[in-house]
Amino acid sequence: MKYDLSNKRTIEKLLSEAGFTFKKSLGQNFLTDPSVCPAMADAAADADTGVIEIGPGVGVLTVELAEIAKKVIAVELDERLRPILKKTLEDYTNTSVIFSDVLKLDLKKLIEDEFGDCKRVVICANLPYYITSPIIMSLLESRLPIDTITVMVQKEAAERLIAKIPSRDVGAVTLAAAFYAEGELLFGVPRDSFTPAPNVDSAVIQFKIRKSSAVNVRDEKLLFRLIRGAFEHRRKTLVNSVSASGVVSKERLTKALGELDIPLTVRAEQLSLKQFAEIADRI
Ligand code: SAM
Repeated sequence: MKYDLSNKRTIEKLLSEAGFTFKKSLGQNFLTDPSVCPAMADAAADADTGVIEIGPGVGVLTVELAEIAKKVIAVELDERLRPILKKTLEDYTNTSVIFSDVLKLDLKKLIEDEFGDCKRVVICANLPYYITSPIIMSLLESRLPIDTITVMVQKEAAERLIAKIPSRDVGAVTLAAAFYAEGELLFGVPRDSFTPAPNVDSAVIQFKIRKSSAVNVRDEKLLFRLIRGAFEHRRKTLVNSVSASGVVSKERLTKALGELDIPLTVRAEQLSLKQFAEIADRI
């Protein structure tokens, strides 16, 4: 039997019948606005696509993805959702759920094992907000063979993730994301689209994974340590923030900036990704 998950009452009934109570600590704000999931699924997948969904909840986005995509594998941490997902997904033979912490799962292996017959693999999710950045960074850094990441995140996190570089809105995560992917804002989602309603609005963003990194750098790990160190104390100058973080000495960094004609007063938010890469190559 197919459940009409575009209907808020159906979702509430499924949850109450299962005696489900929301866990704030797991970022459980479930979508009840019928327009959001079809639009996300449309932006993420087509008939040749394999989809990994993170945090299916009761399956509102999962069923939309299942209708469009070739195959869907959803990863859910909360075992209490097992009986509900069993009901809502029972008619979708191309869809399965793995109960696990997505940050502990070997997604590379999952893709190899499960999506061999799909032309492309994508990630699509309404992310648990308490781990937005760790999830996005681990998806990008592990260089998964995926085409796009289409995710709903808090509006502020979306603005940070796809901020123009350089600008005051940039954070370490902006530069890290830009290294691996091109980000785009798809649409905003007001807070009252969820139950329970969170205190903030949300937005759906899409990352298109680059075939090769945005800039060349000799030591990627050092580049990211430098970027993290630079934004640790974003009000300080780059030299003071990075040297306080212990990544490299003040003298070495000062010398590198001099060689690159970058003023010593520069702050992290004023530098481009290419400049960060050049600094990393010099230190
Ligand atoms: N997709 C559903 C929707 O749109 O209504 C639920 C989205 S809710 C914002 C986030 C979901 O992620 C919850 O179902 C929560 O249990 C799950 N979750 C939280 N932490 C997780 C983790 N580490 N790994 C996998 N799923 C997680």
